[in-house]
Amino acid sequence: MKILNSLNKEQIEAVEYNAGPHMIVAGAGSGKTRVLTHKIAYLIEKGMEPSSILALTFTNKAAKEMKERIKSLIGKKAEELWMGTFHSIFSRILRIEAEKLGYKSNYSIYDREDSVSLVGNIISNLNINLESITANGVQHKISFLKNQMISPEDYEKTSYSTASDRKFVEIYKEYNKRLFENNSMDFDDLLLKPIELFNTNSKVLNYYKKIFKYILVDEYQDTNIAQYELIKLLSPAKDKVCVVGDDAQSIYSWRGAEIKNMLNFKKDFKGAKIFRLEQNYRSTKTILAAADSIIKNNTEQIPKTLWTENNDGELISLIRASDEKDEALQIARRIKKEITTRKLSLNDIAIFYRINSQSRALEDAFRREKIPYKIVGGVEFYRRKEVKDVLAYLRVLSNPNDEESLLRIMNFPQRGIGNTSITRMIAFARKLNLSLYQTMMRVFEVIEVKERIQKNVKHFRLLLDKYIGLKDKLSVGELTSALLDELGILRMYKEENTADSLARYDNIQELISAVQDFSKTNPKATLEDFLAEVSLIAGVDQYDEKVNSVTLMTVHSAKGLEFPIVFITGLEEDIFPLSQKFDQDSRLEEERRLFYVALTRAKEKVYLTYARSRYRFGEVAYQSRSRFIDEIDPNTIEENEFLSGKKAGRKRKNFESNDEFYQPDYEDFDQERRSLRVGSRVVHQVFGMGKIQQINGSGDMQKVTIAFENYGVKQLLTKFANLKLI
Ligand code: ATP
Ligand code: MG
Repeated sequence: MKILNSLNKEQIEAVEYNAGPHMIVAGAGSGKTRVLTHKIAYLIEKGMEPSSILALTFTNKAAKEMKERIKSLIGKKAEELWMGTFHSIFSRILRIEAEKLGYKSNYSIYDREDSVSLVGNIISNLNINLESITANGVQHKISFLKNQMISPEDYEKTSYSTASDRKFVEIYKEYNKRLFENNSMDFDDLLLKPIELFNTNSKVLNYYKKIFKYILVDEYQDTNIAQYELIKLLSPAKDKVCVVGDDAQSIYSWRGAEIKNMLNFKKDFKGAKIFRLEQNYRSTKTILAAADSIIKNNTEQIPKTLWTENNDGELISLIRASDEKDEALQIARRIKKEITTRKLSLNDIAIFYRINSQSRALEDAFRREKIPYKIVGGVEFYRRKEVKDVLAYLRVLSNPNDEESLLRIMNFPQRGIGNTSITRMIAFARKLNLSLYQTMMRVFEVIEVKERIQKNVKHFRLLLDKYIGLKDKLSVGELTSALLDELGILRMYKEENTADSLARYDNIQELISAVQDFSKTNPKATLEDFLAEVSLIAGVDQYDEKVNSVTLMTVHSAKGLEFPIVFITGLEEDIFPLSQKFDQDSRLEEERRLFYVALTRAKEKVYLTYARSRYRFGEVAYQSRSRFIDEIDPNTIEENEFLSGKKAGRKRKNFESNDEFYQPDYEDFDQERRSLRVGSRVVHQVFGMGKIQQINGSGDMQKVTIAFENYGVKQLLTKFANLKLI
């Protein structure tokens, strides 16, 4: 069969095996994802209906790519597959089945921010004043518990009942109650509610078991308890289940992922067969050897071999920088050099960091050096305030019970409905068991609210009703444009005419194009379809390969992807591995797996960078280099020279020439020509190495404030300090 032509023997065996449950355990780049796509194509060629195959992935982007791939193998039929992330597939099922759980099918999906805001409201309503209880902390804990399928009642039974525990349980219960009343679900509910449904309604369960004749799961090592439960519940007759994963790449235990799911597979799925793939097609021998030398330091591991026919390739380059600005600059220069020497496109290059805040220095340098870049993750488009404001309108039109969204827009744009009045309306609503939306129509009964404000509320409610009436008559694109026009939000931002307001203006315009685009590609789609899609978009999904630019992302979001050239930055203790007081070895091991994931994304070349000092938490911190650097097989890595501006990337075709390169201090040993400045690194005879934080005054009276590596911050008179620049 043609589909099997581009696979090796082991891959073909895995594709052809259909006698029962099976798991493919194999290292990075060995073709696990490729086996999945080919297997799906194979099943369809053999006569299985695409609509009876359920394929679960970790990101929407991965799902889209897989679908494209399958389409290229078997054509348009691939459209009918049930393929997507756990969250998107089960939110779709919940749309159909919501009423069986007491919800309406137009339920809203709350993202983390919405959940935090709901928790915050509950904390203030319940008048809880405990330092240990913050909205963020509580939301985090609730999500963690939900991920482990622990309800408030379960938690109550097992946990010590300290005062703060009891309060927490109270909030957790109220949170679930309010979600239900708002006809809303949070992210975790999208997995928990289907489990509840399947466990309580065997008719529905059997219906879906009959629909799904085959279940396939990619990145299986990162499934959590709830996801595992769903796979088990739905696993079709004769257990046609195929999962693929690599325990060495399990990086989500902090979000409740259970590596045990991999180890238990054989136990839970009787007669499960295990397949292994050992040939890596992605990386050079050098990169594989380096990755192997890293992961060997972990104790808990399913033994695996990985080899490749690819070339040895280049050594890994290690670059030391003086600080984060210098690190970013060094990277920018390398990128320019790589582009010309290897004739690559910017899309071929990715820069990974461990924590989001590292991106700022990189962005600054790339802007200065005119290197186009895109950020995956970070403040994601759909999480921006102005975008969320508009979405809140759409959500209320779709689900007027969604109180969080309604509160968000009640006085936005300003229409003279203040917080006090809103609080009174809510109290009234609770007393009479009404929704806030219903209360708006009866606001005249809320005597504490001033007459003028009552009118504003009524007015606003009529506006909402008008658009609720229109929502089935117009396309989502038309509806949004008409609504925004009437609200005057765009005009408002334009007239404000500040950099900030104009950026918001642009973002809303961008949202309008996204909506219109959606309406065009999905002409039959409803407002609910659009909102569901938007709610489930994660940072990594927005990234568009067509735009030529380097990619910046956290290591977590790089999972499953590959790039010819990869920079892994911030290889310093407390950053990568991230500081977590390694009280548990398992935490360090997870950081190491994360580093393994980073390395194995690269096809041709890896750069590792670290800085000796870094601005963190508002001050300059001296950093020591990551233990991971020293764990790498020394035969695979070389320390690189600093790349000075004079040598690199001066007039590249791809870039507008950028005349003045910023010169890092250490390059200039000629002290006569150069005076001290903030950021300079210096040596003092007594205090040793330090970095200038501040310079005051001039001439003989000039004082410098220096943060010394070992002696803390000191202020000295320049004249007597006898500092040497380094
Ligand atoms: P990861 O663990 O990072 O998710 P993976 O095991 O899913 O990796 P794939 O992404 O499927 O690996 O494959 C890695 C690369 O190797 C891809 O570019 C893929 O197209 C290529 N590849 C896999 N198998 C073959 C093969 N038999 N012939 C040629 N190329 C292959
Ligand atoms: Mg993969």
